[in-house]
Formats: sequence, C-alpha cells, structure tokens
Amino acid sequence: MFNFTLGSGRANADISQVFDVVVIGGGPGGLSAAMYAGRYSLKTLLIEKKVVCGGQMATISSIENYPGLDKPVSGSHLAGEMESQAVKMDVKILHGQVTSVNFADEIKELNTPKGLIRARTVIICTGAQPRMLDVPGEKEHMSKGVSYCATCDGHLYLDKTIAVVGGGNTALEETVTLSKFAKKIFLIHRREEFRADKLIRNKVKAVPKIEFLHNATVRKIDFSHESNKHILVSVKGEERTLDVDGIFIFVGIEPHSGIFGDTLKLKYGFIVTDEEMGTNVEGVFAAGDIRSKNLRQIATAVGDGAIAAFSAAKYLAD
Ligand code: NAP
Repeated sequence: MFNFTLGSGRANADISQVFDVVVIGGGPGGLSAAMYAGRYSLKTLLIEKKVVCGGQMATISSIENYPGLDKPVSGSHLAGEMESQAVKMDVKILHGQVTSVNFADEIKELNTPKGLIRARTVIICTGAQPRMLDVPGEKEHMSKGVSYCATCDGHLYLDKTIAVVGGGNTALEETVTLSKFAKKIFLIHRREEFRADKLIRNKVKAVPKIEFLHNATVRKIDFSHESNKHILVSVKGEERTLDVDGIFIFVGIEPHSGIFGDTLKLKYGFIVTDEEMGTNVEGVFAAGDIRSKNLRQIATAVGDGAIAAFSAAKYLAD
C-alpha cells in the first residue's frame, strides 16, 4: 500500500494491482488522457514526478488561446481544474518519477522509487521543454518579453521590434511566422551558417524586415524598464545594444524521452506515433509534446490525450 496524493486530498491505493492504464506525466496531455480513461471506467493511475500537476502549462501566467476561455486564466488554475476533473473520474495520482520501463511483455512494468507499477496499457505524456539560453535576464522576463512560442505570443508584437535567436528549422520557420506581426526582426545566430534546410533559409532571406546577425550571441536581456527594453549582443566579438520589445528563443527543444530510447521509435528524440497515438509497441501510446509532431499547444496535447485513452480502451476491449 502506498500513499497517493489525490487532488486536494490524500488516500491510500493499492499499487500491487495491475492497472488498466498508467499515464506517465501530469501535463495537459496526461491529465486529459487520465480523465478520459477514467470515463471509460478503466482503473487508471497517473504518475507525475513533480509535487503538482500541470507540467509546462502550470508555469504560464496567462493562457489566452485555449478554446472556451472568455478571459485569460493562469496555467496553474487550468491545471487544477483538469486534475480535479480526472480525480472525479476516480483517477489515482502518484507523485514520483518513473526511472525505467519494461514494455517487453503484455503486462508493462514501470519502476519508481515507490515500487514497481504494472499496467496493461501505458500512455506516455512526459512532455518536452524549450532549451534556454541561460543568460542574465532570461528567467526573470519569461512571459514578460521572453518567449519560446510564436503561436502563443506572436500577436503581442504587432508592429513591434523583436529578436529571434537560433539557426535551426524551428527558429527560421518561426521567424517567418513572426514576420507577419513584427515590423522588424533581428535574427541572431551563433554561427555563420544556418543549420536549417535550404528551403526555409531562402524563405527567410526573402523577408526584407529581417536583419541577420551571424556569429552573434546574446549576453544579457534587460526588460526591467518598460521604456528602455534592450538586449546586449556580441556580434563578431563586438558588443551591440539592440532595442527590442521582445525576444523569441528557439535553440532546440528537449524531449523527456530518455528512458524510452531503447524500446520506442524516436525521431529527433520525440516518440513516433500513428494517428491513434499508438507507438511501435502494442499497448503503449504517447500524447502531447513528447510526440513527434509540428504543433505543441495545450489544445493539441489534450486532443492527443483523449485519442490515446480511446485507443487504450479499444486495445483492452480487443
Ligand atoms: P535544432 O535543429 O537543434 O537547432 C537549434 C539551433 O539553436 C541551432 O542553430 C543551434 O546552433 C542553436 N543553439 C543551440 N544551443 C544554443 C545556444 N545555447 N545559444 C545559441 N544558439 C544555440 O533545433 P530545432 O530547430 O528546434 O529543431 C529540432 C529538430 O526538429 C531538428 O532536427 C529539426 O530539423 C527538426 N525540425 C524540422 C522541421 C521541418 O522539417 N519542417 C521543423 C522544425 C524542426 P548551431 O547550429 O550552431 O548548433
């Protein structure tokens, strides 16, 4: 018997049982998958490594683009609502980290510091996080001028001046997206050559409002004064101050897939699934940002979660 944190309360649940569904990760994808699995009357356990659920969503101060929200809400609020909804469906929540998995047999095994957990199906929702630059001012101004998502924040920079950092496909694709809003973009890349594919390189080069800063690295982000927002950039060894209203950082995404690499098919570290969220292993599904896909949003994660739970239920019924 182990102690599980259940929403706002605590209860004991027996982890010696074999669960129908174990969801790994308590972000929007995981909470959605667990809630749907609960609604299918499946014995469901959600394992979240942090002490609270919500994942990246819980760190967002104001969510505006999730359908159904007339007014913006905080990510932690939305996470709390999703968690309560799952717990109402009798989903058990264990706060602890899955350290290794064995998907070789019909009953899947998951090792946690709290003991071995067994499941007929597993839905992986471990997410991913944008890589940070790790420069002064970045953390302090996150969501206050520092962004990692053009879809989420691009519209805030209509007719404004912004900087974009990175030289990969994501940075260049998002620069093109952002050029529909911003009046000027400094594209900052640490090397002479872009890593991105030729097609997107050519697209970016055709946008006149983009100023390219190669061999350039951001040294400091200072957005503390509303009237004097700027970043310090070292360009070919010389320091330059750029007056910008915001900075978008696209220097890679770190998927939380380390423990699955030996078993599951990955693409650039993300789990490859079919349209039903099935992986290359029967009975193992993935949902949310950990999937190999193009758009990572709360809305897409909850959609993935619903489909994954449906597929798990279908697999169990079959
Ligand atoms: P990525 O390809 O790894 O590119 C990351 C970029 O950030 C690189 O230009 C890298 O510079 C730079 N960078 C990394 N750390 C940095 C740091 N600390 N400071 C400054 N710059 C830094 O990442 P991604 O663009 O997110 O793409 C991830 C994967 O998905 C890639 O394999 C990509 O091809 C793929 N993808 C494909 C598509 C598509 O096919 N349409 C779209 C998006 C992504 P260096 O080049 O100097 O290392």
